[in-house]
Amino acid sequence: MTKASVSTFKAPRGTYDLIPPVSAVYLAVREAISAPLRRAGYGYVETPGFEQVDLFSRGVGESTDIVTKEMYTLTQRSEGSERLALRPEGTASVLRAALEANLHKAGNLPVKLWYSGSYYRYERPQKGRYRHFSQVGAEAIGAEDPALDAELIILAVDAYKSLGLKNFRLLLNSLGDKECRPAYRAALQDFLRDLDLDDDTRRRVEINPLRVLDDKREAVQKQLTGAPMLRDHLCEACKEYHEQVRELLTAAGVAFEDDEKLVRGLDYYTRTTFEFVHGGLGSQSAVGGGGRYDGLSEMIGGPALPSVGWALGVDRTVLALEAEGVELELPAATEVFAVPLGDEARRVLFGLVTELRRAGVATDFAFGGKGLKNAMKSANRSGARFALVAGERDLAEGVVQLKDLESGEQKAVPFDTVVSEVRSAQG
Ligand code: ATP
Ligand code: MG
Repeated sequence: MTKASVSTFKAPRGTYDLIPPVSAVYLAVREAISAPLRRAGYGYVETPGFEQVDLFSRGVGESTDIVTKEMYTLTQRSEGSERLALRPEGTASVLRAALEANLHKAGNLPVKLWYSGSYYRYERPQKGRYRHFSQVGAEAIGAEDPALDAELIILAVDAYKSLGLKNFRLLLNSLGDKECRPAYRAALQDFLRDLDLDDDTRRRVEINPLRVLDDKREAVQKQLTGAPMLRDHLCEACKEYHEQVRELLTAAGVAFEDDEKLVRGLDYYTRTTFEFVHGGLGSQSAVGGGGRYDGLSEMIGGPALPSVGWALGVDRTVLALEAEGVELELPAATEVFAVPLGDEARRVLFGLVTELRRAGVATDFAFGGKGLKNAMKSANRSGARFALVAGERDLAEGVVQLKDLESGEQKAVPFDTVVSEVRSAQG
């Protein structure tokens, strides 16, 4: 293609387009992640791509990177209207939607929902870190039950496994609850205030000290040796709860690593927190994460609804598949490719193409009046196993040629048996 014919526009920085054939992998990943959820009673939910800013500042947390640095806020034309932001994550929106629809009042808790969509964060773009990315997520709203935490974790593990991923690990921690966390928080603050930290981090110590534990910088990590650990401050109820989650995971054959420093980037987590990391992704190693958020509903003005959920990153899951060299078995985009020779054959074959499609066979057609050679090239490029070729002589005999593009074998097939012939040839 000459340069002049390329559009002057490019996808914005930090974004990329999903283009065939790779886009099929993304669809397959979304399908694979959601399949275990759909088998476990989770219903599909779809919320707007933007929400009121306050939903996220309250629901995700004023002190989080997501809210302070990464949110895209929108300006609206009319004055005095609500301030909106592109959604940076899914949980707050899904909970907002569930509350708004009164799903929690139907007397059937937990409300189990799954979602799939685009999320937006203003980040420094790099491999595995984009400004537009996609997640599949799940939320189980309104029940406090270690089996529910375990269920979600098991479903995520099953999703990764069904994709053929091996090189991922599950990190697990408990963040305590409103009984035990305040005392721990104070003890941690006492420890952190004595360290040599920059101003931003000092502020974080005052607002959300637990997140300092998650600081990736070596200079900070070095100073954290000897920091009080939540594990030693958990109340009996939290300890017991966490132990049950661990036992249920073990019984399900799910391996995990206790990571007492795992706090994650969102403020709303309580008790169970977990992250899936993959060894093949360099520094963007988190492929998914989640946890329990018993206080979130109240933070956004709802009733007390203890809940748990996760979100798995689709982009990083695709990178993980690449890193492991996993090739998904994708359904053939085209099984049969029709090549007409002449106008009458075009009419007849186009009819057969429609018939094959209606019978469920993925079929394509040599559009644009191509000659035989080019049309056969298109057939080969399409990945179709069979070509359906017809010229005037075939039509006169009431047949089309069904050609196996792998073996080169060809046979004449009467019009009205094309569908069944293709079916039986497919085996
Ligand atoms: P990180 O620590 O890498 O910034 P995070 O804790 O911000 O991740 P979550 O908010 O838990 O991520 O989102 C869940 C998943 O969504 C992540 O594990 C990751 O796979 C994916 N994800 C998050 N941010 C991005 C991004 N900017 N680009 C691509 N994927 C992302
Ligand atoms: Mg992040």
